[in-house]
Order: sequence, then C-alpha cells, then structure tokens
Amino acid sequence: MKVPLLDLTEQNSALEAELRAVFAKVLESGRFILGEEVEAFEAEIAAVAGTQFAVGASSGTDALLLALMALGIGPGDEVICPSFTFFATAGCVSRTGATPVFADSCPVCFNIDLSDLESRITSRTRAIIPVHLFGQAAAMEGVMRVGRQHGLRVIEDAAQSIGARYGEQSLGSIGDIGTFSFFPTKNLGAFGDAGMLVTDDAALAEKARVLRNHGAQPKYHHALIGGNFRLDALQAALLRVKLPHLESYTSHRRRNAADYTARLGTLPGVELPNPAGCGTEAGTEAAVILPAVHSGNDSIWNQYTIRVRGEGRRDALIRHLGALGIGYEIYYPIPLHRQECFRSATPRDLSLPRCEAACREVLSLPVYPELSDPMRDAVIEAIAEFLEKE
Ligand SMILES: *Cc1c(COP(=O)(O)O)cnc(C)c1O
Repeated sequence: MKVPLLDLTEQNSALEAELRAVFAKVLESGRFILGEEVEAFEAEIAAVAGTQFAVGASSGTDALLLALMALGIGPGDEVICPSFTFFATAGCVSRTGATPVFADSCPVCFNIDLSDLESRITSRTRAIIPVHLFGQAAAMEGVMRVGRQHGLRVIEDAAQSIGARYGEQSLGSIGDIGTFSFFPTKNLGAFGDAGMLVTDDAALAEKARVLRNHGAQPKYHHALIGGNFRLDALQAALLRVKLPHLESYTSHRRRNAADYTARLGTLPGVELPNPAGCGTEAGTEAAVILPAVHSGNDSIWNQYTIRVRGEGRRDALIRHLGALGIGYEIYYPIPLHRQECFRSATPRDLSLPRCEAACREVLSLPVYPELSDPMRDAVIEAIAEFLEKE
C-alpha cells in the first residue's frame, strides 16, 4: 500500500463548497490585499494564540523578519537560535544584518538546549529565537528566565506549532513576539504562502503593521524602511474556512502519533525515551528511538520524527520504505552551522554534537490527519519488517 508523507486532497475536498464560496466572495469584493478578511483572520489567530494582537504577513519567514525588524535588530547584534531548524529561523537574522549564533539541541525533544544556549550569550546578544520544532514547545520557562536575566528579547518561531501549549500557555504568547506559518505542510495550511505575527505589546504590533507595508505611516511618509510583507485577502478568507477544523486535524494527528508510539514501542530494538531525560543522550543501544513529549506539553505533531541510530541504518530503512512506496522526509539533513551561507559568520571549529547527530539520525513518518488506519498499519508493518530482517 502506498502511503504519502502528506496528502491534502481529502482535507480540502471536504471543504470544497465553502472554499469556492469564499473565493467567489473575495473575487466579487475587488479587495485582494489586507482588508476585512485579513483583519477578521488576525482576530481569530490572536484568539488561538491567546494574545492581544496579531499581524498577518505574507509568509512565516516574513513574519519572523518583521518580528526582528520591529525589535530593531540589525548590524552588530547577535541572535541565538538552534542550528537544528528550518533555514528561515536563521536566514531572517542574517537578512537584518545581525549574526545568527547557533546553539545545540536536545536529543530527546529536538528543541534548543538551554545550557548550550546560555553559554553562547555575549555582550552583543540581543534576542533568542526558540523554535517549537515538529509541534512541541521548547523549554520556555528556562528560555524566558535566561532572556530576563540577560535583558534579551524572545521571538518564538511557532511555525510548526500553532495551537500547541506549554503548560497553560499557548505557543506564540510566551515571548515578546510569536510567529506562525501557514505554508501548506503546516498544521493550518494555506493555498499558497501566508504567515502571522502575534504579540501582547501594542507598540510592537503597530510597528510590525507599519513595516509590513513599506514603513508607510501615513501613506507616502516613511520614517522606517519596511517592505511588502502583506497578507492576501484570499489566503485569509480560505484559511478562515479551515481554522474551525484545526482542533479536529490536531486530534487526528495525535491519534496517529499515539498509535505509532504504542505499537512501534513494543517492537524489539525500539525505545521511547523518558522525556525527563531531556538534555541527556537518549537511548544508548536502541536502533530506533521514538519521539517523546514532555509532561505539560501537548505536541500538535506537525511531524512524527524518529531517530534511526547506527552506521548506515537510516539509509537502509529509507531504501526499505522507498521500495514499499511509503513516504518519509529528513527534517533536517544538514545543520545550519554547516551551511555555506553562514560560514563567514560561524566559528570554523563550531561543534554542536547533538544537532549533528540528529541530522544524521532523524526520519519523519506520515502523520497527517487523514492518514487512514490501513496506511498507518502499513507504515508500522514496514518498520517491523525492517527491524526483523536486520
Ligand atoms: C515553515 C517554517 C518557517 C517559514 O515559514 P514559511 O511560511 O514557509 O515562510 C520558519 N520556521 C520554521 C521552523 C518552519 O518550519
């Protein structure tokens, strides 16, 4: 049985009539950029994030860039972020003229390692960007404590974690600014590019609004240099159709993840690490390590990411899955501190062993909401068969 890594056909066709209706509404309105639909969507996302303000943006990347610009980060500044993340987290830092400083990641939850983060603070550090990777919160209590101690701003890159919680708090609402992405593969996916910035700080929200439109305030007057980071009315309107279903999408992702963990966890050679062991090296001998969720967190499972340990074993599993037509992806194969574009800004001898190990070992399996029971069975059987043959 073929199992794609992600298939949005069923999700979108279930809403086809409503999607077509709002498309017609926007078509007839003649208003295609910002406007009422965007404002209504901003209010709805602010409610999801539990923040006072939300500013729609053209992508998750642009929301991050806007956040950094609104905080006045630029040349001479350093911003600490994980190396084990999507490129945009660090790319945006460089685009402001500031320097991304890479920190190591926890091998259990894949999020930024607190003590490594703290060790990288210098007199130039201005901000921290924790990333809530794969749907689970970074250790925000520690990040906020370190941030406060050193007078640093905190931007939560919540691109993969809309609606997820850290204890009682919604992700995006804990730091100074949070950012979301509505790239089609994210839990709330648009029909193109879209993003959002959220904050409780009225002045930051206002500055982000002005910067998103070339810094024009009022029209044709530019005290700031911004850009075109505006959200389309059509994306906002279509996303508003999907938003009421986000909780249901998430509960299906959780069901899929729970089933994987319960059934894969019984296979010989598979280990579920104790999340209390965060920061320590996970599972010493196991061939496959399952993803763990910290108590108090509730992952929204943007990805279900296992670690396949041992020389050549991940490649062998990939060949096995590929031959069976089972989708997978490696998020992420190359650490950001090894990327050519960051070479001049990164110490040559920088070693982030846990991040580097994660890049060698991770493998993300299909976990999208509409994944059927037989498809999930096929994924589990494929992995069981691979481990048996070894
Ligand atoms: C997807 C993603 C982004 C960028 O979002 P886009 O909407 O694709 O620009 C930023 N950070 C992380 C961690 C992401 O996963």
